[in-house]
Amino acid sequence: MPRRTFRAFVELEGMYRNIVEQLVLHAVNNGITKFTRLKAEKYRDVRSLYPQLPSHYAYTACQDAAERAHSFLRLKKMGRARKAYPEVRSVSIWLDDHLWRVEGLTSISIATHRGRLRVSIELNRHFLRYVNRGWRLTTEAKVKLDRRNRRLVLYLTFKKEVNEYRPKAYITVDVNENAEAVLIDGVVYLFETGLSRVTLGYYYRRRSVQEKYDRVYGPGNRPERRVLKRLGNNEKALKKEIRWKLATLIVREAARRQAAIVLERLGREPAKGMIERIKDPQLRHRVFQAAFKGIQRAIEEKAREYGVPVIYVNPRNTSKVCPIHGAEIVYGGNRHGVCSKGGETWHRDVVACYNLLLRALGGDGGYAPSRQRALVTVDGGPVPLGPTAAHEPTPIVRGAWARWRSLRPIMNETDD
Ligand SMILES: [Zn+2]
Repeated sequence: MPRRTFRAFVELEGMYRNIVEQLVLHAVNNGITKFTRLKAEKYRDVRSLYPQLPSHYAYTACQDAAERAHSFLRLKKMGRARKAYPEVRSVSIWLDDHLWRVEGLTSISIATHRGRLRVSIELNRHFLRYVNRGWRLTTEAKVKLDRRNRRLVLYLTFKKEVNEYRPKAYITVDVNENAEAVLIDGVVYLFETGLSRVTLGYYYRRRSVQEKYDRVYGPGNRPERRVLKRLGNNEKALKKEIRWKLATLIVREAARRQAAIVLERLGREPAKGMIERIKDPQLRHRVFQAAFKGIQRAIEEKAREYGVPVIYVNPRNTSKVCPIHGAEIVYGGNRHGVCSKGGETWHRDVVACYNLLLRALGGDGGYAPSRQRALVTVDGGPVPLGPTAAHEPTPIVRGAWARWRSLRPIMNETDD
């Protein structure tokens, strides 16, 4: 934006920051976490501090400050606050319906101490996606100054009226280190992600780069840093792509069937002890983030966008008990096991997917699915489970599913 207009926003941000700092100090000193109380006590002071500022900034700054004080006081209570007072480091200016409005399709106006300023806007893909899905803008917004590019970044909130979503079916997702098993319409698809392999691969590449460069240039040299940075960016981009593509595929299938998505409730510790063998705690954390938490977060966010509900169930023992007989499954050295009662063979990920489904249907998150529950019906049809059913997942390599927009290719294939 023009230098002059931008300068007005820099001034505005300065005043806003000052107000928020003072309000936070007052709130923390007096144990205030509610916007209404903060406003009642400080509105007059704030107004007299900057009388040239539109009065609604006093409201939004009180909301902003109350939220900061609230989270700081909570951290303090838990003994995790590092300082006596919260620092107001990064500021985005909170706007309400009086402070900004849309002007046509290409600009907005924002009320400032220098009157209403018109700012032309550039919409991004994310925005258009939400609008296309029937989301509407709310009146609140936040604006952040991007000094380097002399522009404002506008953060918007969308809302949507939704009909009660009564799931007609469930899609269960069991995540393991290198694949996601997904149960859809009675078939378990095993989508290869290779996420832990990606993490480990980059880890070892980084280590060998470090050793090589350290030998030649000494530790912490510039060329080494450059190579490491590039490797880090590549790794991040690849993982992100894998996660988002798969999340989109799964959520689309759920939306098409009006299904809910069932995920494991993850604890703070790595799931199922699967990655316990990785000794380096930092590396273990990264594998966990990539393979479990990161995937869940991607699914959650996509599901929100499509209005698909996500259900969490207790993951305990989900791969240890036969979904039909409720008896223990004895695993050999690989991912295949035999039911100790019925004698049928199971693939670990298939077991996990069905048990997640049973728990979602049982609704109690318990970890001992009974034979009754295995016979509960979904959408009129029985859960397709029988001793004769195929207990093998359908594996799909990454190169294949990454190009799909829906599961149709594989479904047509299995129909034949
Ligand atoms: Zn069995």
